[in-house]
Amino acid sequence: MKLERTLVLIKPDGVKRGLIGPIMERYERAGLKVIAMKMVTASRDQAMSHYPVNEEHMQLMGEKSLKTYVEYGLDPIEYIGTNNPLEIGKMIREWNSEYLSSGPVVAIVLEGIHAISNVRLLTGNTLPTFALPGTIRGDFSIDSPALANSRKRAVINLIHASGEPEEAEREINHWFTSDEIHTYKRSDEDVMF
Ligand code: GDP
Ligand code: MG
Repeated sequence: MKLERTLVLIKPDGVKRGLIGPIMERYERAGLKVIAMKMVTASRDQAMSHYPVNEEHMQLMGEKSLKTYVEYGLDPIEYIGTNNPLEIGKMIREWNSEYLSSGPVVAIVLEGIHAISNVRLLTGNTLPTFALPGTIRGDFSIDSPALANSRKRAVINLIHASGEPEEAEREINHWFTSDEIHTYKRSDEDVMF
């Protein structure tokens, strides 16, 4: 049995659009247990340090984003002054931090069977324009990377969800202290498992 914990942030657009309830419902009804939750207005520093200063990670993000420019026939140099993936990755980290600190977020720790991958599935594709109907991003958002890049901002996609176990552990510790994380039994556990 792979019981995992994962961090979810309802980003400022989700809070401002009144979508805390509908988003939480998707995770809760699937059987994921809320074991920590709070609203935080993150400082720019707190938002920045949520995204690791990892060159490999930033490089990958830059490469992924460069593909979008090529796909849409846009010249990255014209838009953001560089076609260097690491530079673009660093820029996106700045845009992400600005987005995350632009209003209150709701930070949540969810626990459950394969919680990390299950939460990612329920959340949907990072890029709302490619997120399938039935996923949270697919049902509630529609932003595209071409638009985001051309406006020098992050892709607006409602949610952050940890991608892998080490990331989840680091992020849970970034947003919560151990006494803010709770243990209890959900009444449907006996029936579901
Ligand atoms: P996630 O784990 O699904 O959130 O996706 P990533 O970890 O790959 O990216 C982190 C965040 O960066 C995403 O949630 C988006 O808000 C933003 N983002 C991802 N790709 C792009 C992109 O190509 N352009 C821009 N402007 N933002 C992006
Ligand atoms: Mg991620």
